[in-house]
Amino acid sequence: MPERIYNFSPGPATLPYSVLQQAAADIVNYQNIGIGLIELSHRSKEFMAVAEDTERRIRQLLKVPDTYKVLFLQGGASSQFFMIPMNLLGEGKTATYLNTGTWAKKAIKEARLFGDITVAYSSEDTTFNRVPRDDEYTVDPDSEYLYFVSNNTIYGTQFAQMPKTDTMLVADMSSDILSRPVDIDKFGIIFAGAQKNMGPAGVTIVIVREDLLDKTPDSVPTMLRYKTHADKGSMFNTPPCFAIYCVGLVMRWLEEQGGVEAMAEKNRRKAGMLYEAIDATDFYRGHAEKDSRSLMNVSFNLPTPELEARFIAEAAESGFNGLKGHRSIGGCRASIYNAFPEEGVAKLVDFMADFAKKNG
Ligand SMILES: *Cc1c(COP(=O)(O)O)cnc(C)c1O
Repeated sequence: MPERIYNFSPGPATLPYSVLQQAAADIVNYQNIGIGLIELSHRSKEFMAVAEDTERRIRQLLKVPDTYKVLFLQGGASSQFFMIPMNLLGEGKTATYLNTGTWAKKAIKEARLFGDITVAYSSEDTTFNRVPRDDEYTVDPDSEYLYFVSNNTIYGTQFAQMPKTDTMLVADMSSDILSRPVDIDKFGIIFAGAQKNMGPAGVTIVIVREDLLDKTPDSVPTMLRYKTHADKGSMFNTPPCFAIYCVGLVMRWLEEQGGVEAMAEKNRRKAGMLYEAIDATDFYRGHAEKDSRSLMNVSFNLPTPELEARFIAEAAESGFNGLKGHRSIGGCRASIYNAFPEEGVAKLVDFMADFAKKNG
């Protein structure tokens, strides 16, 4: 097997090779202390330093104000679907949600267990091929928050701008966190499973405004209260040590790449190449409407399912892995998160042109 192929997987997703190599060494013997990283007590000074360093780098890269906590939680991004309404809603409280895909829909289902939920927009009847403009929905003025998914991983749509509203924003940024600058102070909560753009599976990053920590109803169990984890620096119980450590390495790598602004530029270039290739022929058809196109997940179709299957198989033979679309829409999807190399995108674009010529 070659040392490395191009991994277009939607998540867990490709990581910088330097990060994998460093992690491989540290697992066995961390900083020459004679103990492997994943054997260290989470309360050891070595691991405490790892957690603090990871948090500091996230704060710097995303310019997180001091009035926010950065938490390392478990249970995946999906646990935030219930943890958010469980902590922020309750008897007589309401929130507004934008239904832009599978992950939004799942969050709406959970939120209804805890409050009165308004779904102000849905693109479900066009297979979630777009996200709304600000003038296409109204936020219920009594809402505690407006919930949206900034990048819809499956359908390949993304909010080019964050919704403009006076209501506090809550966002699932699992598949585009750290891919562009964000104005954090418009948000009450931002969360992201690490396995798309930040590291391996196992940790969920939650950025939460401090004043929200006291809103949780008394009936919420200890482990499911944000305040529990905020008060203990995410060390109330054993945190996902290895995942936190890897996220720290990815943050260091991001800094070396020039930070979030530089990433945003690179992401525009990478996605631009792919969309140009899609638009160049009638052979490929992008799933998302142009204004809603994601820079992270490029979902597209070929003229027939048979051609799509052949495309995916031949691509795999050429060293392009993970191009199969999600089972809910089929077709193809190229996930090109921060760590996906630009030259891999260029090579896929060449492959696509060749394939269209042979089969078009
Ligand atoms: C992958 C994904 C999730 C689910 O993440 P888990 O960590 O598997 O629970 C939620 N939201 C978005 C936008 C995703 O891309």
